[in-house]
Amino acid sequence: MTDVLVLGSGVAGLTATIHAANRGLTTVVLTKAALDTSATAYAPGGVPAALEEDVDSPDLHLADTLTAGAHLCDEDAVRVLVTEGPDRVRELISFGARFDRLGADLATTREGGHSVARVIHAGGDATGAEIQRALAQTTLDLGIEVRERWLVTDLLVEDGRAVGVRALDASGAPRQVRARHTVVATGGAGQCFAITTNPPVSTGDGIAMALRAGVAVADVEFMQFHPTALDSPSSPRLLISEAVRGEGAVLRDDDGFAFMTEEHPLADLAPRDVVARAITRRCIERGLDHMWLDATGIRNFADRFPTIWRSVRAVGLDPAHDFLPVAPAAHYLSGGVMTDLDGASNVPGLWACGEAACSGVHGANRLASNSLLDGLVFGSRIVEAIAAGKDVPEQSGVMRGIVRWEGPAGRDLDVVAGVREPSIREWLQRVMTRDAGVLRDHERLTRASDALAGMQPDSVEDANLLTVGRALVAAALAREESRGTHTRLDFPERSPRFDGRLVFSHGFTPTLVPLPESLAPELA
Ligand SMILES: Cc1cc2nc3c(=O)[nH]c(=O)nc-3n(C[C@H](O)[C@H](O)[C@H](O)COP(=O)(O)OP(=O)(O)OC[C@H]3O[C@@H](n4cnc5c(N)ncnc54)[C@H](O)[C@@H]3O)c2cc1C
Repeated sequence: MTDVLVLGSGVAGLTATIHAANRGLTTVVLTKAALDTSATAYAPGGVPAALEEDVDSPDLHLADTLTAGAHLCDEDAVRVLVTEGPDRVRELISFGARFDRLGADLATTREGGHSVARVIHAGGDATGAEIQRALAQTTLDLGIEVRERWLVTDLLVEDGRAVGVRALDASGAPRQVRARHTVVATGGAGQCFAITTNPPVSTGDGIAMALRAGVAVADVEFMQFHPTALDSPSSPRLLISEAVRGEGAVLRDDDGFAFMTEEHPLADLAPRDVVARAITRRCIERGLDHMWLDATGIRNFADRFPTIWRSVRAVGLDPAHDFLPVAPAAHYLSGGVMTDLDGASNVPGLWACGEAACSGVHGANRLASNSLLDGLVFGSRIVEAIAAGKDVPEQSGVMRGIVRWEGPAGRDLDVVAGVREPSIREWLQRVMTRDAGVLRDHERLTRASDALAGMQPDSVEDANLLTVGRALVAAALAREESRGTHTRLDFPERSPRFDGRLVFSHGFTPTLVPLPESLAPELA
């Protein structure tokens, strides 16, 4: 029987894969598209790590992450992330990843929310593609078994232990793959929304499978919306990175007014959620789909942002002369399968890492670029824990207090099969964007909940999107406050009543698990 079965081939899955093979564990990767297909490959920005001790420190990175997370990060998990991050980055370089350099040193840049320049990048704005290339090549060089175009459909849980998965193989035939340990690294769920930066593979499959199997899932109401995705009919939408505003681009409304000056002292460089809300509000007020990004003042756009430049040119726009139409897009899911500090879920034998997991490092709002690092750090920790003989979760990280928690009894989350309707995904995406997007309230969320309840999915992935969408809406309804990326127009303030995680175990009713006393924050 295989020692380690890895689901997904992005940064998180392949990091776990390579560590497992290097530890001498038999390892198989199942991935539903090609080995190099993932959200990872889309990430332009970079990886933050406190590599230069004279200007930066893990403590500073920790403080920035906790601030972004709006008092919902797990501090121990963040400490693991920031202290082990630098070694994982050095290891990635040893696997062949080539990062941009200034002379002999790694070039670093600063992104929103980081107090120093600590984000390393590759190919200017092609960091994720370089990481994906290096990890995929290492996987192939190590001769690890990769089964491409295998769609995992369900987790196998027997006598309370995960023992592998059900999947459709490359020919579409149903199969079972059994393993001692199963690692969920299936990425995020941006495809729940009509407007998203996430690629087609980001359908929340691992999270939906976990929900169906009764594995604890939390924080799914915290979908981060990137404020400036290019408003074009393409899906995924092209992300115009924050760095473009960092270089001087300005958001304007249809009258040409630079409206962010009225919204926040940092104007266009305000935190992501502030910018996303401001654009959405203005779009609603004016009955428009987008605002405008004026990057005409950036002289060396093509050199500084070669990938964005090529993509924008491909749709006929020239940033030197044209304002770029932009709108907020679903970008990053902070929640997922709950794990302890080693990536263990509450079901023995089942582990999770990367965007599919909720390790507590992102809280209510991910600090820019912490996600690639998250995959590197926790993908490796899972395997180190397995190699050290760990078999059951412990009460660490977000699992404090819930390891033996079974959740309320209730109906299982079934995949609804049967009646086929065309374009169910489009319908679901529109409902989610309209009613569970950047600005939420009871009325909109209830409307979303009712609409989702009546939907009949017509594929495995659509069923997964529906399952994750229903959980997201239920959590967003239950969280009667605004915090991080979750904005309730009817509850605009943060409330101490919600200093905790909304956890799903069985059914669509989340339970609020308060933060342990020692972690309960003072409200600022
Ligand atoms: C446009 C864009 C820009 C971004 N920019 C940055 C950035 O600059 N810095 C940063 O840190 N983060 C960034 N992010 C976020 C970051 O890229 C992701 O959070 C991260 O790459 C997720 O890695 P992962 O390994 O968890 O998942 P992914 O990279 O999404 O990989 C998931 C894998 O699982 C496979 N899979 C999914 N479902 C199944 C199934 N049912 N069966 C089998 N296989 C399955 C997929 O095919 C894929 O191979 C960005 C994301 C996007 C979309």
